[in-house]
Amino acid sequence: MIEIESYDDVHRINMSISFFGKQIFPINAYIVNDVLIDTGAASLSRDFLDAIKEFTIRTVVNTHAHPDHTGSNSAFPFVYVHRKGMDRLKNPQLEMQIQKFLYGLPEPSNPKEIPSVLKTGEYTFDVMYTPGHSPDHISLYEPRKKWAFTGDLLLWGPTREVFVDVKIYDAIESLERLAGLDIDILFPGHGPPFRNPKEALAKQVGTLKDFGMQIRELHERGWNAEEIRNHLFGRERMYVYLCGGKFSALNLIKSYLED
Ligand SMILES: [Zn+2]
Repeated sequence: MIEIESYDDVHRINMSISFFGKQIFPINAYIVNDVLIDTGAASLSRDFLDAIKEFTIRTVVNTHAHPDHTGSNSAFPFVYVHRKGMDRLKNPQLEMQIQKFLYGLPEPSNPKEIPSVLKTGEYTFDVMYTPGHSPDHISLYEPRKKWAFTGDLLLWGPTREVFVDVKIYDAIESLERLAGLDIDILFPGHGPPFRNPKEALAKQVGTLKDFGMQIRELHERGWNAEEIRNHLFGRERMYVYLCGGKFSALNLIKSYLED
């Protein structure tokens, strides 16, 4: 299922992965003038490209190189991505079996290093390096319109499972930097926009820091990561076992204990 919603000159392409007929996982791509931000999942590629065929796209940007954001990259001559995401786009690898039937595996695409400023018509986006969710994560900020496109840095719902390469202290620092900007509307990689982004960003920073305090306190008492996970979250959810450790609540605990 694909819907397009417009907010001023921002068009949100809202697609979702379904599983046995149930919509389980929403994914966003955005179009502003001739810029396409993220390209959804490969498994939705045909419908996605059909849904946006009325738009003329000249520039494609990936907020990061995860497969649910890069699935239709290969339909375009090149995509801008952070330098650290380039290898992943040239040589997509299946990291977890579960990805194959959820997102599909993107075709290799042709990445170029994203410049620090991106212009389209009357809009100018500052490209901010915002690592944490992934090492190659960027956000786009349009200061005049006060729009921010922040990929997977701020999502709806509590943070629980994360990828094995998440850097939680980087994520907190990136969120704090975004919280310092004047943003009217924040467009995330999944789910509807945030209308009170300052509040949402500050709340997320607070929650992540509180978690950190609890986790380090328990760790100082001699608890290991598994024990802390069980205490804070209980057992891992079913589907985590299908991810072979690449995506779990335990990863979140461990990321707090790195450093
Ligand atoms: Zn991601």
